Amino acid sequence: MKHKLLDILACPTDSFFPLELSIFEENEEIISGILFCPKCLHWYPIRERIPEMFPDRQRDEEDELKFLNKWKEVAPQQVIKVGKPFNINNQLIKSKTKSFF
Ligand SMILES: [Zn+2]
Repeated sequence: MKHKLLDILACPTDSFFPLELSIFEENEEIISGILFCPKCLHWYPIRERIPEMFPDRQRDEEDELKFLNKWKEVAPQQVIKVGKPFNINNQLIKSKTKSFF
């Protein structure tokens, strides 16, 4: 996505503006990154230059956690720990529960 798109993007969950941008890969455009809403804590992946701004019910948890795991060293700690609708803490709790049973 182009940098200046950030000037018009609002959170699809609560319409909060502006969103916080973390860039993982870029050339003249942002190739990979995360858009984060500091108000409702929702995050949205940017993949292959496309910001994926979908409401919770249209999101694929497994797919998005793969994305988050790939970038967890550089993603904002808030997204990793408390980001919605998915974060890595949730995932850890789930895998612990599985091995317990
Ligand atoms: Zn929001």
